Amino acid sequence: RIVYVDGQYVEEQDAKVSVFDRGFLFADAVYEVTAVINGKLAEYDGHITRLQLSCRELALQLPVSIEELKKIHLALIDKNQLHEGAIYLQLSRGNAGDRDFHFPGAEVKSTLVLFTQARAVIDNPKAETGLHVVTCPDIRWHRRDIKTVSLLAACLAKEVAHSKGADDAFLVENGFITEGSSCNCYIVLADNTVVTRQLSNDILHGITRQSLLELAAKDNITLEERPFTPEEAYHASEIFLSSATTFVLPVVSLDGKTIGTGKPGPIAKRLREIYIARVKAQVE
Ligand code: PMP
Repeated sequence: RIVYVDGQYVEEQDAKVSVFDRGFLFADAVYEVTAVINGKLAEYDGHITRLQLSCRELALQLPVSIEELKKIHLALIDKNQLHEGAIYLQLSRGNAGDRDFHFPGAEVKSTLVLFTQARAVIDNPKAETGLHVVTCPDIRWHRRDIKTVSLLAACLAKEVAHSKGADDAFLVENGFITEGSSCNCYIVLADNTVVTRQLSNDILHGITRQSLLELAAKDNITLEERPFTPEEAYHASEIFLSSATTFVLPVVSLDGKTIGTGKPGPIAKRLREIYIARVKAQVE
C-alpha cells in the first residue's frame, strides 16, 4: 500500500512520523474518514468542511491548500487502485522536537498523513442481519464535535461490546444516548417518526447524519432532533446507526433486548437504499 506522509507518497513500511509528533504524544491531531465508492470520493465536500471546522477549533493549520488536499486524495486512490473502501486523513500539530504541552510556534509544520483502506461498503452483510449493540457510559471529553484522534474511550467502548459478544456500543451520558462509539444513533417510533439527538458539543456532527436528515425530509419521513434514553430505544420499532463507512446499518438488539421484530426494519432499509442512491449519483 502506498501512503502519503508530508508531501511524499511512500510504501507503508517506509513511512515515518517522529516520536515527538504531537499527534503521538498528546493526541493533538484531527482526522477524517471519507468513503471511496467506485474509485471516487463520497461526500467529500462535507468531510473537508468538517476538517476545516476541527482545525479552526484547535488553531491547527493545514500544510497544503484545499485544492492540493483533493489532489492527494485522488492520487492515493489511483496509486492504490482503490475501488471501494475509505481514505483516512490525519493532521497533527507536528513535531516540536521535544515533549512540551505548549503549542509550538508557526515554524513547526503540521504533519499530514493519508492512507487507504479497502473494504466492502455497499455490500455489507450487516445490512442484512442487523447489529447487536450494548450501551456503556460515555466517558469522553466534552468537545465531541471536534473530530480528534483521542479515541481511547471509543476503543474501550468497542472492547466492552466485543467482550459481551456485541457488534458495537452506544454511549450513555446523564441517562441519554449521545451517539455510538463511532456512529450517530437513531430510533424509530411506532408512528414512524425518526428520532436522533440534536447537534451540540455532545456529539460528532456526522456528515452521513446531515445527508440522511435531508433525504428523510424529502422522503416525507417525520424527524425529531432530541435526546432519547436507552429505555425509549428498547421499545422503539427500529434502531439504526450511520457513519461514513457503514452508511446506514440496522440494530436488531440493544442490551440483549430484541428491537421491533428482531429483523432490520423498513425505515432503516429505506434510508440505506436512498442513501446508497445519493452516493452512487456522486460517484458515477
Ligand atoms: N460519531 C462518532 C463518535 C464517530 O466517530 C463517527 C464516525 N467518524 C460518527 C459519529 C459518524 O460521522 P460520519 O457520518 O461523518 O462518519
